[in-house]
Amino acid sequence: TELFSARRSCTTCPYCGVGCGVAATRESSPGNGEDVIRIQGDEQHPANKGKLCVKGSSLADTLGNHGRLLKPQLHGKECDWETAMAFATSKLRETIDEHGPDSVAFYLSGQLLTEDYYVANKLMKGFIGTANVDTNSRLCMSSAVAAYKRALGADAVPCNYEDLDEAELVVLIGSNAAWTHPILFQRMQAANAKLVVVDPRGSATSEMADMHLAITPGSDAALFNGLLRYLSEYGLTEFGGLDQAFIHNHTDNFTDTLYAAAEWTPEKVAEYCRVELAQLLEFYDLFRTTEKTISFYSQGVNQSSTGTDKNNAIINCHLATGRIGKPGCGPFSITGQPNAMGGREVGGLANMLAAHMDFTDDNINRVGRFWDAAKMAKAPGLKAVELFDAVERGEIKAVWIMATNPAVSMPDARRVAAALKNCPTVIVSDCVGDTDTARCADLLLPATTWGEKNGTVTNSERRISRQKSFLPKPGKARHDWEIICDVARRLGFAEAFDFQSAADIFREHAALSGFENNRDQARRAFDISALANISDQEYDFLTPVQWPVNAEHPHGAVRLFSDGDFYTPNGRARFIPVQPQCPKQETREEFPLLLNSGRLRDQWHTMTRTGRARKLLDHSEAPELHLHPRDAARFGIEDAQLVRVESEKGQFFGRAKVTSNQKPGQLFAPIHWSDSLAYNATVSALAIPVTDPVSGQPELKQVAVNVEPL
Ligand code: SF4
Repeated sequence: TELFSARRSCTTCPYCGVGCGVAATRESSPGNGEDVIRIQGDEQHPANKGKLCVKGSSLADTLGNHGRLLKPQLHGKECDWETAMAFATSKLRETIDEHGPDSVAFYLSGQLLTEDYYVANKLMKGFIGTANVDTNSRLCMSSAVAAYKRALGADAVPCNYEDLDEAELVVLIGSNAAWTHPILFQRMQAANAKLVVVDPRGSATSEMADMHLAITPGSDAALFNGLLRYLSEYGLTEFGGLDQAFIHNHTDNFTDTLYAAAEWTPEKVAEYCRVELAQLLEFYDLFRTTEKTISFYSQGVNQSSTGTDKNNAIINCHLATGRIGKPGCGPFSITGQPNAMGGREVGGLANMLAAHMDFTDDNINRVGRFWDAAKMAKAPGLKAVELFDAVERGEIKAVWIMATNPAVSMPDARRVAAALKNCPTVIVSDCVGDTDTARCADLLLPATTWGEKNGTVTNSERRISRQKSFLPKPGKARHDWEIICDVARRLGFAEAFDFQSAADIFREHAALSGFENNRDQARRAFDISALANISDQEYDFLTPVQWPVNAEHPHGAVRLFSDGDFYTPNGRARFIPVQPQCPKQETREEFPLLLNSGRLRDQWHTMTRTGRARKLLDHSEAPELHLHPRDAARFGIEDAQLVRVESEKGQFFGRAKVTSNQKPGQLFAPIHWSDSLAYNATVSALAIPVTDPVSGQPELKQVAVNVEPL
């Protein structure tokens, strides 16, 4: 359904996982009478209640066709869609016929809408017959997914944003929310909760916090093991210690988990995390005595070779105090991208089927029956790092990358770019024509973008919202789902991909979520079957709603686990024993510093959209390297001087920003620039592709490097 003729469209911001509602209004310019777009926060949207941060409020400045990919390009030459689709189809078919289904892969993005994700996943896992379909969300929150599944039985975020309004203590771990999730940070501030920031780096968030625990990089699990031990010493709930009744009635494996944490005395934690003992005890006591406590965490916890364990160490403390499923409480993982959650729902991760189903025989058969699948994938596919390793080894011979830029964002990114250049077939669909990844493509397919796309996204609190088109498709661009369905039909699967609209896809996705779901406790989590029969009009005006949306929760579920019933087979949450481990990338003589990376306040990913708004560039115009004054003196670097950073994988050039926000020995660089924007500006090129063994998420936050002035 196209709504671009409407004057006011309620849609969703395309940037972060907060998922703010946006009202886009077309108005005639008083000067030339041409339509202009005015952007405001949607006051009816529960995520933001009318507010927008600087990125969201600048969306109108990022519209327009400059830099857009408007026609398909085959080997650098413009072509028509017929030629492009014939090439894509024949290459995929030839590769599958000659080398088998596992020789092809899709790499997706949290920028795609749920409907795009759904058909890509269906084509690969149900018709081509491989699960080699992964997503850049692997780099963002896959450790949070794995930890929720281990502890709660499903990838189910217990909390909602209203809990932030009610919390009395918010512990932000590995998050610079003031910049990365600004609207949620404003909600925390408005609620007057005490804020504790756990982050090696000083940030805009820590400056506004009541306490900043600047732990040594990667030591989060020890901090929370120590907290669990500390809580256990206070015994009963009335003394602010353990919630024995909750542990007894609703959880398993507490004794083993406490045993694993027993060695983490406050003294040992203080030494390991390199924080003052008095400050540590103050934090532990604050947590112990504040019933309404939320732990709010993001990539600083997840982008680690032990990210899943770190997540579980945090969740353990909430289970031990019964602070889950109650107002103002809970372990709250926040996603980076607007639709990382929606992608998870439909099987965007290579280790899951659709609707949060794992690869069990029952689930494979069930999904196969529902889809009337031609060829079901029988086992999990390759996760992001494995996937590009397989491209490099020549095992993946055709890869289709949608709406993302792995030649910039993957660890050891230049090796990924080289692997793509050697890959026999690379198809890239994107809204822009010149990215580092697009430069590796044989075939470029023009896709619609924000303002043109039509579908749904799910934000960090499980809330499904509509993203609506209020602008026509430019040039020859098509929606991602249309491109995928066209290829599927040409591959011979016309009946299964005969979708006429995003609404058609959404209804099928909702129906699958409830299909035979009474057999599996975990599947109760993601069941939106109450939306399976909505009309086109109901879809267009879908009120933002939090899953599950089913017979039990016809209007959605604001908070999960209020009844202490979890999604594990026996309904009990699981404590997970955690053994803290150091980051895999340790400093050494030739690489004596640790490099951290992250987002800036006014930019998003590789700046393909935010880079178009002049006022957003004003905040920071060029790649920077933040370092402590002592390191600046040690390496002979002055503020604003050009520097070269080197790891065993590559180098990065940036301008020095000398700041005591960094601890000595630790550097920080923003992720937004890439080699196609500035010379040697891809910071992920420095990272070694080590991954968490449970989630497959790469360790992007700790890279051993050297630095020198230029
Ligand atoms: Fe967009 Fe996130 Fe800002 Fe909200 S907080 S306006 S979703 S970037």
